[in-house]
Amino acid sequence: MELINRAINILEIFRTNRSLDGLICPHCKGEAVIRYGTYNKKQRYKCKTCKKTFTDFTNSPLNMCHFPGKWPEFLKCTIKGLSLRESARLLNVSYITLFYWRHKLLIALKNIKNTEFTGLVEVADTFLPYSLKGQKSIENRAPRTSGTKYEYLSGEKVCIIMAIDESENTASRATLNLGFNKRCVDAAIGNLVNNENTLLFNQKPAYSSFCKDKKILFYNSSIKEFNINSGRNHLNNFLNWMLRFKGIASKYTNSYLSWYKFISRLNFNDTTKGITKLIKVISTVYICEVNSSIGKQRLDIS
Ligand SMILES: [Zn+2]
Repeated sequence: MELINRAINILEIFRTNRSLDGLICPHCKGEAVIRYGTYNKKQRYKCKTCKKTFTDFTNSPLNMCHFPGKWPEFLKCTIKGLSLRESARLLNVSYITLFYWRHKLLIALKNIKNTEFTGLVEVADTFLPYSLKGQKSIENRAPRTSGTKYEYLSGEKVCIIMAIDESENTASRATLNLGFNKRCVDAAIGNLVNNENTLLFNQKPAYSSFCKDKKILFYNSSIKEFNINSGRNHLNNFLNWMLRFKGIASKYTNSYLSWYKFISRLNFNDTTKGITKLIKVISTVYICEVNSSIGKQRLDIS
């Protein structure tokens, strides 16, 4: 364990990646930044625009982290699919600490922008029961109110839409579903497709009306010559992979979808390379979540 933590200098990777195109302020994105002493043995910077100070870990999953040196091993455990309890034992940190580490990692991955699709795009969907796992006082839930304070009711469904193109670029989105229509499709993939793509999907009218609006050529995937099913396979692989977590709270579905996107492209033969790649990826994303806001995530309603 010590070996991997020593071999990978996470602070160095963050510092290098965050300053590739010139260091910017993580608070206001200002470019006028000066070195400003050290804080907890880390270089500190000050932004001349907003006057705030920051380090290389500010607004990252490692912000305020007491054990950044344990992150390479934590990422290794996560890549290997170890449970939080197992990982906590190996790393000698508490389960609750790792719970926050995992969710901040997943939020960073969720904030990575999807790449636009090229060529043929296959789309598939599924509906899962809404799960309140881990949520306190479920029995004493207040009745649903209108407006922004939405209370989830039992029996409601989470809709997952997943799309994959011919170069295996993927995108997915989970929403609390109150009726499947073209707006759901648009929210999931609307900004990733254009009229140069061809869409392949099952028979739901929501897809065809989405395509007609966008002037996108489409086919029904049940037509024999187009029966290639990559979209459905990709979605099924995700659902099978999710079984290891023994049920998650639905509000975290988008986080796990992002994690699956990363992990399904990873070469497992070289873990050190995988960890380094993961650190590089998260170093370029700015997140503002803190421990207390992790549980407050919600699914968008479609
Ligand atoms: Zn600033």
